Amino acid sequence: MVAPGCGHLIQPGPTRQSGLRASMPELPEVEFCRRSLERWCGNHQILGFSLLDPRCVRASTKARPSAGLAEGAELLSATFSQPPGPLLRHGKRILWRFGDRALLLHLGMTGKWSRQPSPHAKIRLELRDGPLFFIDPRLLGGVVPLTWQEGQTALGAGLGPDALGNPLPPLAGRRAVKVALMDQAVVAGLGNVQAMEALWRAGLRPTLPAEEVTGERHTRLDRAVQVQLLGSLQMLEGAEEITYVEEAGSTNPFPIYQRDGEPCPTCGTILERLVQSGRSTVWCPRCQP
Ligand SMILES: [Zn+2]
Repeated sequence: MVAPGCGHLIQPGPTRQSGLRASMPELPEVEFCRRSLERWCGNHQILGFSLLDPRCVRASTKARPSAGLAEGAELLSATFSQPPGPLLRHGKRILWRFGDRALLLHLGMTGKWSRQPSPHAKIRLELRDGPLFFIDPRLLGGVVPLTWQEGQTALGAGLGPDALGNPLPPLAGRRAVKVALMDQAVVAGLGNVQAMEALWRAGLRPTLPAEEVTGERHTRLDRAVQVQLLGSLQMLEGAEEITYVEEAGSTNPFPIYQRDGEPCPTCGTILERLVQSGRSTVWCPRCQP
């Protein structure tokens, strides 16, 4: 059976452009960030850095900006003085190796790495061909300096399997399937947008109890998650930079996200909105019975 929505999943990848619209950082945006850093930096030595806002250097991804690390600049110096190695990703976290040290990168809600300067830049790196910035207007993201050994443990700590390329784990409990999909301890990388779009593609009602998503329903959802993630990655391909949907002047590339009151792209039924765990879910009452 073909899940509703599959037919218009893969849109032609845009040619290289400077302001691709995307949701706030979920797995595809974080993977885009990982690939961009790999392309820009490779294994070339970082030539210098400026810590423009010390609050972005944290002891852990859970630490608040007010708890910025006192020795942040020293730790960054010890890190960036070593040659960059591979960039690994698990869910929405990136681990960037520098010799025997590493940086855990966390984008939070509005973080991104960019070649363009911004008043919200928190870190500036000097590369051979110009500067690179960590930009984060709301400062909910940041960098965590660790040893390489600590970093390997921290990367996946507390997270379920990465959502991209791994089978969707069994879902349990009476809580809604959408809420279960967004639980990083169950499956890592899905946020509000990817979860709601995947459920629409799978034809599953977002309020369905997680434990009822078994058998054929689970297979359909598993496939819809992969199709959704790969489609989002493909949309980002070739882009120079991400502009989040929440940023001023951006447009929305998603079929149902923020489109309540508009017709469903598959069946024309008016899309509805509900709130689950404080987050908006848009859904189609006909495609997702
Ligand atoms: Zn529909």
